[in-house]
Amino acid sequence: MRRLIRTRPAFVVSGLAFGLLLADGASYVRAEAQGSTWLETYRPIANRLVAESQSSDFAWRRLAELTDTFGPRLSGSENLERAIDWAVAAMKADGLENVRKEPVMVPKWVRGRESLDLIAPARQPLPMLGLGNSVGTPAGGVEGNVLVVKSFDDLDARKSEVAGHIVLFNVPFTNYGQTVVYRRDGPSKAAALGATAMLLRSVGPTGLRTPHTGSTVYADGAPKIAAAAIPAEDTDRFQRLQDRGVPIRVRLSMEGHFEPDAQSYNVVGEIRGRELPGEIVVVGGHIDSWDVGAGATDDGGGCVVTWEALRLMKKLNLRPRRTVRVVLFTNEENGERGGNGYRDAHAAELPNHVLMLESDGGVFDPAGWGFTGPETARQTVTSIAGLLKSIGADPVTPGGGGADIEPAGTAGNIPLMSHNVGGEYFLIHHTMADTISRITPKQISDNAAAIATMAYAVADLPWRLGRER
Ligand SMILES: [Zn+2]
Repeated sequence: MRRLIRTRPAFVVSGLAFGLLLADGASYVRAEAQGSTWLETYRPIANRLVAESQSSDFAWRRLAELTDTFGPRLSGSENLERAIDWAVAAMKADGLENVRKEPVMVPKWVRGRESLDLIAPARQPLPMLGLGNSVGTPAGGVEGNVLVVKSFDDLDARKSEVAGHIVLFNVPFTNYGQTVVYRRDGPSKAAALGATAMLLRSVGPTGLRTPHTGSTVYADGAPKIAAAAIPAEDTDRFQRLQDRGVPIRVRLSMEGHFEPDAQSYNVVGEIRGRELPGEIVVVGGHIDSWDVGAGATDDGGGCVVTWEALRLMKKLNLRPRRTVRVVLFTNEENGERGGNGYRDAHAAELPNHVLMLESDGGVFDPAGWGFTGPETARQTVTSIAGLLKSIGADPVTPGGGGADIEPAGTAGNIPLMSHNVGGEYFLIHHTMADTISRITPKQISDNAAAIATMAYAVADLPWRLGRER
């Protein structure tokens, strides 16, 4: 999943924090006093990282190995745990330091068999994907007439018609934040009015008749009904049929259910800082994925490019002043237990986290960064990003974050950064089409180099990011 990027309110510098800052002030180099010389230190390093990364397709082949060997990696699955063990062994082989698994209990949702059959006006099996965390239907399925609605307001306007029907939300994709609320809240809103099941126009642009899964969340107090996504094309057809007054009848069968929580792990590896190893820059992605496709774009690619950033530093013998830590978070998709677990396990050292950066928007052509943090820090990372103009990773926009880094970021008031890319993320997001065939070696190499440069420079700055003055 890609979290809707929120802009956190401006950082509050408390009196206490400001006092500490002044007390430490003598040890910080003022950026202005240095002119641009500090930045020039990093230009040749950025160039070396880009050249090294572009010189091979190592990282692309690593993503291919991950996705080919272990396939989709839903929380609670053997695939996920085998991929985690593989990542630990491969990080050790890379020569990263303090490589370890940090235990996290994760929910185990199981899809089981599922189907959607059109009964009238014609008989036809239809493409569908049950929504993650959905309950199943009773054995034999739920059969009923479909009521198509275009919004929650439309649902309310037609509430007298809902009882006993299967509600289909036909809300065309605009952006993820606007559309995903129907996936999250739709089942309970329909159930509260007496719907027997819910169908959803997939959250994504019209593809090749592609259904998209993703989490739903049941509201307390509403009955739990089975919920599934269908392709945009089938939704358009149902809308046309309803508009012509043609009754639509379907049977939905789903076996979705939860089993007891399972043991999983966040994977951690580091390059320890040469002067201030206790101060930490975190980069990472999430190693779990939905149970369809291969989790290449969401988010095997984010794991590989952030991990590769450390491998490139190691390869070029670059050891920054502070520690750079890669974290492959578990269970982002249907629980966010990895991000919450990291926050809890590292509570004592959150004040020493300088920056957290997540790559969970795909690994297509680099497009820069989102950043949430102090204004002075934004100026610093914008200067660093300028070193990456040749590969398109120089823009810095407001609003950095990621589902896995936000729990620690919020608890520790840590600057957050998201890795932005262009491309077709939402076309293949949470679908069977999320495979490495959509990603080129150059895209992977460029993104790895961009993250390596940003992470290295921030970790190596003469002052701590955010304490520029
Ligand atoms: Zn994701």
